[in-house]
Amino acid sequence: MGYIAQARSRKQIREVAELIRKVQFAEHELYFPILDFVEKTLPRIVPAFSFRVGDLVQMGECEGLTIPEKNEIWIRQDVYLKAEEGRGRERLTIAHELYHYLEHSKETVAFARTNGKSIPLYKDPEWQADAFGGELLVPHHLVRGMSAEEVMIRCGVSYKAARFQLRYV
Ligand SMILES: [Zn+2]
Repeated sequence: MGYIAQARSRKQIREVAELIRKVQFAEHELYFPILDFVEKTLPRIVPAFSFRVGDLVQMGECEGLTIPEKNEIWIRQDVYLKAEEGRGRERLTIAHELYHYLEHSKETVAFARTNGKSIPLYKDPEWQADAFGGELLVPHHLVRGMSAEEVMIRCGVSYKAARFQLRYV
């Protein structure tokens, strides 16, 4: 049993990331201000939306949580503070939750029984959210020719994410 979402290619996910960059007026910026987007821009567009920071007692092992039907994204406090400092992994966690909020809801995600077979990546909501995070934080059209170190520093992502995204520029 796993979750299954509507099929999305990397190209389609990239288009969503590009749209979000436009909404934030960050099409030409290497560093996407993910906290600004979820704390200021998104609530302006969707007044019902709220971005919440939860403590360790409330959230436990869970670093991020999205409840689409309540219009909420929850981020654990330590993760939030690291994202605020510009740490790549934590910035990616927030971008990941943002995709769940934008694209995954009771209407679009279902439980799937797959007889031991794994769900194809392009239908896996976790793969989709990770792919979106990478596309949003690393603008493919601006990083051509850069080294992974340069992408890591200028885009505010982890070295691993920088190297991974450079495969798709
Ligand atoms: Zn997730």
